[in-house]
Amino acid sequence: MLARTVAPPARPHTPSTRTCRHETCEQVTREGKPYCPEHVDAHPYVRNLLAALDARHAEEERVRRGGSMEVDMDGITAREVVLHLSLHGARTVERISRELQIDADIVRGYVEALNERDMIMQSTTNRGSTVVKLRDPEGALERICNLQSVA
Ligand SMILES: [Zn+2]
Repeated sequence: MLARTVAPPARPHTPSTRTCRHETCEQVTREGKPYCPEHVDAHPYVRNLLAALDARHAEEERVRRGGSMEVDMDGITAREVVLHLSLHGARTVERISRELQIDADIVRGYVEALNERDMIMQSTTNRGSTVVKLRDPEGALERICNLQSVA
């Protein structure tokens, strides 16, 4: 996940003798970076990001078991669902699940939380799928854009 998929462009050689900040590590880092590849997870940004991802996963598992009452409306998953609906319009629960790669059972918890806040309209397809649509896509998008960054 954290591996580079694209090599950075070659830079002119900059003399740098910086060593990894990890306590026991003596590796000289490339391009003056604070940590060597092995210890990049000690970087504060990476730690915050990993903590946010862990928190997200833990919340989703709580929502799977406990439903909408476990939803953090300011959390990353609720924001992702709202963003997705505001960008793409009406979606079935199954399609949200597929496109966001979140289990449908978990998506249902978030949809229910949005419904409890009267943020969505729901209908049913001929095949019995629930279709979800934001009542106010621009307002919902504005709201999540004004929340603090997660990582
Ligand atoms: Zn290191």
